[in-house]
Amino acid sequence: MTTEAADLIRTEHALGAHNYKPLDVVLSRGEGVHVWDTEGNRYLDCLSAYSAVNQGHCHPKIREALIEQSAKLTLTSRAFHNDQLAPFYEEIAALTGSHKVLPMNSGAEAVESAVKAVRKWGYEVKGVPEGKAEIIVCSNNFHGRTLGIVGFSTDPVARTGFGPFAPGFRVVPHGDIAAFRDAVGPNTVGFLVEPIQGEAGVLMAPEGYFREVREICTEMNITLILDEIQTGLGRTGRLLAEEHEGIEADVTLVGKALSGGFYPVSAVLSNSEVLGVLKPGEHGSTFGGNPLGVAVARAALKVLVEEGMIENSEKMGARFMEGLKGIRSNVVKEVRGRGLMLAVELFPEAGGARPYCEALKERGVLAKDTHDHTIRIAPPLVITPEQVDWALEQFDAVLTGS
Ligand SMILES: *Cc1c(COP(=O)(O)O)cnc(C)c1O
Repeated sequence: MTTEAADLIRTEHALGAHNYKPLDVVLSRGEGVHVWDTEGNRYLDCLSAYSAVNQGHCHPKIREALIEQSAKLTLTSRAFHNDQLAPFYEEIAALTGSHKVLPMNSGAEAVESAVKAVRKWGYEVKGVPEGKAEIIVCSNNFHGRTLGIVGFSTDPVARTGFGPFAPGFRVVPHGDIAAFRDAVGPNTVGFLVEPIQGEAGVLMAPEGYFREVREICTEMNITLILDEIQTGLGRTGRLLAEEHEGIEADVTLVGKALSGGFYPVSAVLSNSEVLGVLKPGEHGSTFGGNPLGVAVARAALKVLVEEGMIENSEKMGARFMEGLKGIRSNVVKEVRGRGLMLAVELFPEAGGARPYCEALKERGVLAKDTHDHTIRIAPPLVITPEQVDWALEQFDAVLTGS
């Protein structure tokens, strides 16, 4: 590593809070599936900023939208209308089949907003006694880092030392339909769940689980809130991961790739009932729905669809998965995932995923270890067959120690 890069890392360490432990690589440029470090070394990005750059780094059309809009109008607050918000609503509603949209910025804010709206819906529409609303969530969930959210996390690292936490949440094991049914009570207003648990290591529920969840929610008048902040917008080979399950959520949360990595833009998408309970002054965000953010989001959605990225995710995901499954390695316990949301879980005896990610970095592939033994693989959805095959050669070399 050059002294320049080492200096940047040292300064970050000295001045920044140590809430991340990045790989020792300092990036300064990105294009499509590739990023470059300060020394000019090229890497294939197999993380995509946790699936925020599904459209590839610095997509020219999204960049154009950003530049154009930034010269016109960037922020009005919602005290006034802006001419980008209505077309954004129309386009995202048509694409996702939603009736109401609430724009926010980060994913965590979308989650918090949904919790607020669903609780209010519970009191005003379902008739739950004030202060008694319960939301069911899953073990190993990841919905963000705010106090409200970490309060119902089951990860001690995310929770410990940050209490006291808000009540009103009940945790059930992900994928366990009997546990979900048992947890439902008269005051249950919502079930908040990830279609595939990304941060937990790309964990999938058993076939049919979500269909039964949908039935129970409909029968018991419970709002089904799918957190598609990571699984959504093409990542799993469909626009939304719910399509694999043949269900429709009442509330869908999107973020991350909603801006293609240019700007924090998230949204709560819902039927008209749930978001319909919010009245002026009851919720808001200075930057939520700002013209720059939504102009970027409009372009990000447009290229996702027009450039066939969702279909490519399905095809390249299948190719990647097949290639990974073909690697003859005695450290690999399981390969799983859907579309380009993939994971390789290693046996505990392999000594953790981090050294493998470091070895991959040396070979020009940036992937992220998650929960000690799992390597997560989520390249931008614009990846080509040749790039998948090249990546597979590097995974093969690292996983077989050749
Ligand atoms: C990343 C993520 C969030 C939080 O998004 P932020 O923009 O980091 O606040 C919430 N839910 C899921 C499933 C995520 O992957």
